[in-house]
Amino acid sequence: MEHGSRNQRFLLGLLAFLSLMGFLHGAEDSDSRHANCNRGRSRLARNILREEFYPHVRKLGFQLPPGCPFSEERDMFLDNEKHKKEVRFNNWKCLYCNKVFKSESYLEHHYVNRHPETIKEDGFCLADYCDVLECDMQENVIGSEGMFKTSSYRCDAKRMQKRRHRCHSVLDKCFPPHTSDAANRLHHEFEKLYCEHLSCEASPDGLGDVARRPHTLLSQSKARSEYHMKKTKHSPWRKLAIVFGVLFAIILFIFYLGVCLYRKDMAILEDLRKLSSNSEGGVLRSSSQSRCDTWEE
Ligand SMILES: [Zn+2]
Repeated sequence: MEHGSRNQRFLLGLLAFLSLMGFLHGAEDSDSRHANCNRGRSRLARNILREEFYPHVRKLGFQLPPGCPFSEERDMFLDNEKHKKEVRFNNWKCLYCNKVFKSESYLEHHYVNRHPETIKEDGFCLADYCDVLECDMQENVIGSEGMFKTSSYRCDAKRMQKRRHRCHSVLDKCFPPHTSDAANRLHHEFEKLYCEHLSCEASPDGLGDVARRPHTLLSQSKARSEYHMKKTKHSPWRKLAIVFGVLFAIILFIFYLGVCLYRKDMAILEDLRKLSSNSEGGVLRSSSQSRCDTWEE
């Protein structure tokens, strides 16, 4: 009897321990999902999708299924991205609570700490699909120097095959084949755009693991010009230089105006002085003349 109850207590204890471990493990998983998702690369992937994927899907009136990793409804950080605004010299504002942060990364930490409910834990991390979307190409273009970087390593056939397979798998989820004409068409078009060139044979010189699709160059130049515009627009030194330039121009204008007015005043005074000295001379001349006239009489 005593032995049986001891076993029962042991089993209950074991169950409690196992459920606690399960809970902790679950919590850790849940934490690590968004913590392991790179927000910067997700942004790059999102930009690519916004530029060439969503417009085309919308044009055909196609509704992406929830299993599609590119579906906006399933984007892990989309809500955060919609609730941020850049204000004053690279400061970022949280549009959930209006607090302002000195950098974008501080704001992103704030989302995790203060608004964790706004992160879709069951959503997709777009950064995980950068191999399909070629985020590296865009990242290289708008890298630290905003310059093109050339890749000089040889094409890895195995890696390329893996990427191609993954690309097909993503498209199967987004546009399940044989479900509708629109799905078939979009599957076919995006297959050509994203998957077909993912092979070492598609790379004529066999160099570079970075896929080359012609239209991407257009995206790159656009991204690069946007980056430069943003950089120029938000450069604090440039703004400071503009302010000083305008101030200097105003001061210079006031100085020249003052000099002109001073010289004009001096000229008027000079004229008056000449006029008065002339008239005094005239009076003297006329009085001496009248005196002469008197003597002559
Ligand atoms: Zn906030």
